[in-house]
Amino acid sequence: MGRLTALSTYRPCFAAADGGRAAGADEDVVTMAVAAALPIASPGETTRLVLVSRQAAAAPSSAPAVLAEALGLGDVPVEVRLGGADAAVDALLHAAEGTLVVAAETGREPSAAAALVASGDGLGDGGRARRGFPIAEPAGVHDDPRLVRERAWKPVVYQLASAGRAIVTGPPARAARALASADAPPPPDAEGAPAPLFALAGLAQAGTPGSVVGVEGAAAAAVELEDPAAVRVVSVERRTVVPLPRPGAAGGEIPISLSAFERAFESKVGLKAGRCGCGALSHPPRRLCLECGAEGAGELVSLPHGGEIYSVVTVHVPVPGRRVPYSIAVVELDGVPVRVLAPVTDAVPGSSPIGTRGELVLRQMAVREGVVDYGYAFQPAEAPA
Ligand SMILES: [Zn+2]
Repeated sequence: MGRLTALSTYRPCFAAADGGRAAGADEDVVTMAVAAALPIASPGETTRLVLVSRQAAAAPSSAPAVLAEALGLGDVPVEVRLGGADAAVDALLHAAEGTLVVAAETGREPSAAAALVASGDGLGDGGRARRGFPIAEPAGVHDDPRLVRERAWKPVVYQLASAGRAIVTGPPARAARALASADAPPPPDAEGAPAPLFALAGLAQAGTPGSVVGVEGAAAAAVELEDPAAVRVVSVERRTVVPLPRPGAAGGEIPISLSAFERAFESKVGLKAGRCGCGALSHPPRRLCLECGAEGAGELVSLPHGGEIYSVVTVHVPVPGRRVPYSIAVVELDGVPVRVLAPVTDAVPGSSPIGTRGELVLRQMAVREGVVDYGYAFQPAEAPA
């Protein structure tokens, strides 16, 4: 078994119609996974990455490369698993030392969470249960809520010995609450694969050991958190809820150049600048140094994510492949003489003036001819509480 050393949770900042949170149009499984994992990913110590999601099948083929590059993890093995809350619990229980388990959900209650597992003790296997009960099939018609509750969720939860005071996670919070015993702590505002990690983060923050069951369909797995004090918990959730913009016309499509995409990948997804032998930085990297005139690729160096808006404009005129209105900013990065062009995200267009501080976050820039183009958007900092 392993020892849990850090947990991080992320929920998007837009308001959903049902009172929960909604993901922005530029977010997907990959960007939300990066948002959750970035604070606890540790180059050198993180030796393996496992992404668990019910939407894994819809993730772009570039997902492993984008995750490793954006998290600065180099060439660690990345595994993408299709699964919900039970699969996330299994991934934790079977994680080798140095594994970063990341779970993301883009459906109802979109969220992501990450857990870093080291060698040692602290996580206990609470058992698993599975039944061959076909529900929630992609083209299924037998999704009667009562049938699902009585014949899928209940039997597998009750079969687990540790389920006595366990937090039940995976199904919608109200259903999960009803499956748990009355004295169990309440389930988190999360569904699917990230839900058990949210529950573990809650236990660690409260400093109480406890048991968490992850349920998906007619399968469940349980994990015991034995040493809550050993776990560092990070929340990257924003307090300020932003109204979700109405989907505007996206217009036509700009064709993609795959060779340009491939050439720019590292600097774009890893947020890296080219550095010439003379020390001059360029972003995007240039072959010809504007300072000394030297030619050559130079080396790539990581740029800081923090900065402030140097110049900004809000575009209302429809352009191909983009929803309007949107704001695009020139961002002056902290501590380096580099300015980056980035769309403003997680804010009402036009609400971030020059001088606004914030940070660059990985988002979808565009989907061109079916290829997701990732890059960095500027997320304005929140006003202090
Ligand atoms: Zn130079």
